[in-house]
Amino acid sequence: MPHFWVAQRCGSEVHQAGSSHAVLGAYDGPMIRIDPHAHTIHSDGTDTPSGLVRAAKTAGLDYVGISDHDTTAGWDEAIEAAKAARVGLIPGVEFSAQWQGRPVHVLGLLVDPAYEPLQQEFVNAQNSRAERLARMVAKMQGDFPGLAWENVEARANGAPLGRPHLADELVQLGYVPNRSEAFKVILSPAGPYWERQRTLPPREAVELIRAAGGVPILAHPQATRRGRPVPQEVVQEMVEAGLFALERDHRDHNEEDRAEVERLAEYFGLPMTGGSDYHGLGKPNQLGENLTGEEVFEQIRRQGAIEVIEP
Ligand code: AMP
Ligand code: FE
Ligand code: FE
Ligand code: ZN
Repeated sequence: MPHFWVAQRCGSEVHQAGSSHAVLGAYDGPMIRIDPHAHTIHSDGTDTPSGLVRAAKTAGLDYVGISDHDTTAGWDEAIEAAKAARVGLIPGVEFSAQWQGRPVHVLGLLVDPAYEPLQQEFVNAQNSRAERLARMVAKMQGDFPGLAWENVEARANGAPLGRPHLADELVQLGYVPNRSEAFKVILSPAGPYWERQRTLPPREAVELIRAAGGVPILAHPQATRRGRPVPQEVVQEMVEAGLFALERDHRDHNEEDRAEVERLAEYFGLPMTGGSDYHGLGKPNQLGENLTGEEVFEQIRRQGAIEVIEP
């Protein structure tokens, strides 16, 4: 497999937009810094869309993605901010699907936000997110005095609710020092309060993204801290439904996990991407810590229903 096909990792150095630098491996053309995977307050991140764009500028990114969970609500502000700041923007979304109760996240880059079935699925997803989180809170209440659904719900400010909002409430109540600790046991799939969420099956998430003209990428498929990895048979189904790529370079993948993603990518003939999955202060992930290669980005650009905002 040619090396320029895989995601590029550049370590932690900050590069100015448009600077040239050699990448390890066969490809040594000019390097554009592309981080297509990031979240804002429109899901479980802590930056506003304009804040994300500013942070991307500071991090020396040429292109940043806005890929909130189950919504495109942050796009308008992000697009305006990106044009003003002359930062490239890749509008997208991250769908939460599940397979046998295991989370399967699918990025949908450059979807047409006006596609009615897409917006309808966002409504479904947001309802089942709230309903599922309320079930978890109800289970927890005896063990965590002071925990109230209204306060958890209020944290999302109308955005799609998720366990991070519940984690933040546990931090506020003093039960854990930070989000990451809350996820280790209390909110983990193996923990006592876990409840499944009703979601699309992975295959349908891919189909919907393609129907909306978007480019579907399987996010962090080997992130085992979040549950068991996505099995090959499920990847197979997703490939048959039109999956574009696998996200290899991600903080939640160690070297072994990356090797397994490479094996799957080779087996299915898929490109690979990288992304930070930045959530602002909600996670240690830093913008630009993982990147996507230019060749793969060009393919995404060609396949997407809408235009990338150019820097
Ligand atoms: P949910 O959508 O309710 O299943 O929650 C999943 C979200 O929780 C993911 O999108 C992540 O942003 C976040 N998350 C998962 N694992 C962790 C962790 N270990 N630490 C902090 N946030 C996490
Ligand atoms: Fe998240
Ligand atoms: Fe994810
Ligand atoms: Zn994400």
